[in-house]
Amino acid sequence: MADNKLYEVLGVSRNASDNEIKKAYRKLAKEFHPDKNPEEGHRFKEISYAYEVLSDPKKRSVYDKYGLKGMQEGGMHDGFAPAEDLFSHFFGGGLFGGFGMGGMRRRHRGEDTVHPLKVTLEDMYMGKTAKLQLSKNVICTTCKGKGSKSGAATTCRTCKGCGLKVTYRQLAPGMSQQMQSRCPDCQGEGEIIKEKDRCGSCHGRKVCNETKILEVHVDKGMKENQKIFFRGEGDQQPDVEPGDVVIILQQKPHEKFQRSGDDIHLSHTITLTEALCGFAFVVRQLDGRDLLIKHSPGEIIKPGDVKMVPGEGMPQYKNPYEKGNMYVTFEIRFPDNHFANETQLKQLESVLPPRPAFTMPVGENVEEVDMHEYDPNDRSNASGRGEAYDSDDEHHVHGLPPNVACAQQ
Ligand SMILES: [Zn+2]
Ligand SMILES: [Zn+2]
Repeated sequence: MADNKLYEVLGVSRNASDNEIKKAYRKLAKEFHPDKNPEEGHRFKEISYAYEVLSDPKKRSVYDKYGLKGMQEGGMHDGFAPAEDLFSHFFGGGLFGGFGMGGMRRRHRGEDTVHPLKVTLEDMYMGKTAKLQLSKNVICTTCKGKGSKSGAATTCRTCKGCGLKVTYRQLAPGMSQQMQSRCPDCQGEGEIIKEKDRCGSCHGRKVCNETKILEVHVDKGMKENQKIFFRGEGDQQPDVEPGDVVIILQQKPHEKFQRSGDDIHLSHTITLTEALCGFAFVVRQLDGRDLLIKHSPGEIIKPGDVKMVPGEGMPQYKNPYEKGNMYVTFEIRFPDNHFANETQLKQLESVLPPRPAFTMPVGENVEEVDMHEYDPNDRSNASGRGEAYDSDDEHHVHGLPPNVACAQQ
């Protein structure tokens, strides 16, 4: 029940010899080469893929047995990726739906390795090159990824090299489901290396562990959670395209600044005197410059006021000469109790705007009360009201004397 598509692509029969396959491929490849026939690029890809499979006895036997599905599920290609779109082209798409329930899909591409990298806001402002040490699997150089000293490996007899165990389960008469699982004898490798022949460097693992230093360029304006990709730097594995190393930036909290997009926010506390009479202060910018910020006397700052310093925010990513803004939120520290005597307070009052008019109320309804210190966080100040129900009240509601109830009927 395997398909015949690859033979059809090359225009040969199922029992064509290696030589016939090679001849057919050469002729078609010449005819459909993208240089000559750019319109037929897809056709050329099909031809190349068909030849890749049929010219390799191992792959051909897998294809003969399991068809294109087996090729896709088995991950039997190296280097040349017959991309998903090629398969959907062969199959018209969607035919894989529901196929291989319980089966195991081997990876064509290794997994990405993700590393967090902690950086400061200063690093993101000025840019930085960080060195990151990581260990990864690389193809063993001693055995070139074969895993054996002799370079030989025996094709697994159980799975005939495809790494998969295929079983059929009958669902109903005339209807069966194909199940695939990893071959238990070769752990899905498709081949078995004899104990004595195992490579001394990798002990038959085909890969060795290596420490590698990556230079990570943190560019100006990069943001929290931004990803930096190192294509193909992930773990190596024979016959698998390595995944990427992905660095994710994590910003350490800054003691003074909060970042919001390309803007920087900070809060600054000034005294009441400064709020009324003007002030100057210095902000150490992320590149080490001291920014002098002045505020003229007489221009009042109120608690919570926000002022903006244009162009002193973060540089824009990929456009670092453009910068966001810096926003300063002001807190006002008031003087302590009794900071001035009565005479001084009178003098102060003579300078400040006049009090609003106040008329002292008179009459029996006027009651002067005390005002105390209050701390909203101090629970012991909370009033005890609401707990003081007299339980007698409830008795009156339910407790009608029995004789009254009888008299009413
Ligand atoms: Zn096997
Ligand atoms: Zn080795």
